[in-house]
Amino acid sequence: MRFYGDYHTHSRNSDGRQSIKEIVEAARVCGLSEVAITDHGPLVAVIGVKSAEQYLYMKEEVEGLKYLYPDINILLGAEANIRDLDGTLDIPDSILQQLDVVIAGLHPYTLPTSLQDGRDIFLRNSLRHLGRKQREIAIDANTRATV
Ligand SMILES: [Zn+2]
Repeated sequence: MRFYGDYHTHSRNSDGRQSIKEIVEAARVCGLSEVAITDHGPLVAVIGVKSAEQYLYMKEEVEGLKYLYPDINILLGAEANIRDLDGTLDIPDSILQQLDVVIAGLHPYTLPTSLQDGRDIFLRNSLRHLGRKQREIAIDANTRATV
């Protein structure tokens, strides 16, 4: 199997250690033909971008890198955080529509939409180590939120 793309990367804009340019250069060295920059959404403690508007600045940077490195397809995306059982994301639609790719995940310390959502997802995930029943409740909540 030959990998041709990486669609899950984090830059210094969230919890990564490299700049966007360094990620693109590393992807080229690895022989990838496509790379997506997918920094964490803003409403999670510590690991997220400072605000959703930051993606717009990152998009400008990516557009510049496309001219510098025409041999690789550079996508700007996000790893959005799921905030409730309805799957609400922490990035507004107006910004999501400007991204090339969006992945979504459940992360601890994400700001829930409401206190009830905090209990329904994040507290239940914290309790999953207490036994099989609690684990099944957490799995059901995670599946519902993700779907
Ligand atoms: Zn990630």
